[in-house]
Amino acid sequence: METAAPAAVIVAIDGPSGTGKSSTSKAVAAQLGLSYLDTGAQYRAITWWMVNNGIDLTDPSAVAAVAGKAEIVSGTDPAAPTITVDGTDVAGPIRTGEVTSKVSAVSAVPEVRARITELQRSIAASAAADGRGIVVEGRDIGTTVLPDADLKIFLTASPEARAARRSGELKGADVKATQEALIKRDAADSTRKTSPLAKAGDAVEVDTTDLTLQQVIECVVTLVEEKRTAA
Ligand code: C5P
Repeated sequence: METAAPAAVIVAIDGPSGTGKSSTSKAVAAQLGLSYLDTGAQYRAITWWMVNNGIDLTDPSAVAAVAGKAEIVSGTDPAAPTITVDGTDVAGPIRTGEVTSKVSAVSAVPEVRARITELQRSIAASAAADGRGIVVEGRDIGTTVLPDADLKIFLTASPEARAARRSGELKGADVKATQEALIKRDAADSTRKTSPLAKAGDAVEVDTTDLTLQQVIECVVTLVEEKRTAA
């Protein structure tokens, strides 16, 4: 059940894939009446556009040159988040194996990050200004995009648990192959020069390995409510 948000709280939720970030962020936002932003979808959307337009993704300068071309619009209702590129709904196409395997190369390019970070900050600023508040999930939200967020959460889980969850989502994909792909993507995201995947010094770390999704949601809802009470 939705409860009214008493203050425009800004929540940053970071962590690698398969930690339950998206499901948790959406549920927490819905439960607390906050907006929701999936920043991974934005990086996937710009990658989809680049693939579609034949950009050489092995050439960072070619990627940088077109970083500002696609118009990416995110709908922030946690019950029905949307993502469009130049007016086309890309919610399905951005989840293909091709985009997933190429997104880290695109998201490592500083010009892409600058462009998407600006977009994210303006969405968060609108949610703060209209009094609604927002949950923003990603890899560098607490460290770079919104360093002044009211609450920062860093979700972790063992590689085995993360791979099992991801292959479940991908409807029975091979767990070992999924784990290898996931480790490769995390390594690329964690070692890139510009705002890598990292835990902010003031983030609360939640290890979700042995928790159900419901338990993780409850844990984060409690942390948000504590913040609001303290504010
Ligand atoms: O969260 P998701 O798996 O959809 O993210 C896709 C990719 O987008 C990540 O692997 C990463 O390369 C990039 N990303 C990022 N910074 C964020 C969110 C996602 O670099 N804040």
